[in-house]
Amino acid sequence: MNYKVPFVDSKKNYQLIKNEIDSAYNEVMTAGDLIMRGQLSGFEDNLAAFVGTKYAVGLNSGYDALHVSMIIAGIKSGDEVIVPAHTFVATASAVVNAGGTPKLVDVSKDYNIDVSKIEAAITPKTKAIIPVHLNGRMSNMDAVQSIAEKHKLIVIEDACQSLGASYNGRKAGSIGLTGCWSFYPFKILGGYGDGGAITTNDPEAARIARLLRYNGEDRTTGAYYYHGFTCLLDNLQAAFLDVKLRHLPNWIKRRKEIAKQYLDGLSGLKDLGLPHFDDHKNDDVYQNYVIRTSQRDNLSAWLKENGIEILIHWPKPYYSYNGLNLDGSYCSETESISKEVISLPMNVEISEEQVQYVIQTVRKFFV
Ligand SMILES: *Cc1c(COP(=O)(O)O)cnc(C)c1O
Repeated sequence: MNYKVPFVDSKKNYQLIKNEIDSAYNEVMTAGDLIMRGQLSGFEDNLAAFVGTKYAVGLNSGYDALHVSMIIAGIKSGDEVIVPAHTFVATASAVVNAGGTPKLVDVSKDYNIDVSKIEAAITPKTKAIIPVHLNGRMSNMDAVQSIAEKHKLIVIEDACQSLGASYNGRKAGSIGLTGCWSFYPFKILGGYGDGGAITTNDPEAARIARLLRYNGEDRTTGAYYYHGFTCLLDNLQAAFLDVKLRHLPNWIKRRKEIAKQYLDGLSGLKDLGLPHFDDHKNDDVYQNYVIRTSQRDNLSAWLKENGIEILIHWPKPYYSYNGLNLDGSYCSETESISKEVISLPMNVEISEEQVQYVIQTVRKFFV
């Protein structure tokens, strides 16, 4: 279907930066620099500087960043790891695939882990916690860190949706042992295929990640140190991501402007919740603009009929899929969220007219 307002518009996004992307492509292809060359290390340096960590290690996906982080954290069979019940399934899958057991904790009204419920989930087997910074908003990291210190838990940040966000002046991905990033095309910093990274201040974590991503091999000596994976960020993708990273500060500004327009245009409607939460400590980057209403299914049908592409993150909690073998049946906020949320178009290529059209169309439904 051809939407008047697509959820994202990759073709239009490319046109915004075509010259720079094309010259990055030409540079890489002309030199034949495909694996672990200057573009990868250059991007890693720039990403680390942006996040404010000493190291960044490019990987193949956000999932790999989480999985590698679980191994760095030493998670193994019998260990429990606390994860939010409302997140992308990869957060929990990384724990399971490392041999651990995810312990699900419900979220708050701002869609991030409910810090008042974390301690009840801690047992003598708990080794780590993965706060997820969902939709471009960081979790309450003051609370997460103090609980982690008290119970000696390793903190791994799933920051896949929050590049550039901060909490209490500290950037997402700079606080935990590692911060995990995804460069999936529709993330705030999206490549042209899969990509990911970890950021860390810990030299040992960075060293292990660099070995694990390349089959456990130290490329300079050829020696093997681990049973690793093949999950290296491609040099070509790194070159593209580096171009986009230069635009990121402006693109984040643009996302905040759009969020402000949605706020101004949509506030005051009965039965419509907007993602603006009063905590002066958070600086949000709006990876997703999530609205909430009891009339979700009718509103999403209405928006689609009127040419507006929306997504639902997520219509069913991941733990309710039998194949995943998880127990989150007590997570009532997550259950309501799955019935009430809609993500509106939020991207840097959307036009002013399109934003206004979304606002008018949502308003028409309610009034
Ligand atoms: C996208 C995402 C991931 C996984 O990233 P991939 O690159 O798709 O593997 C993990 N966690 C969250 C919160 C995400 O949004």
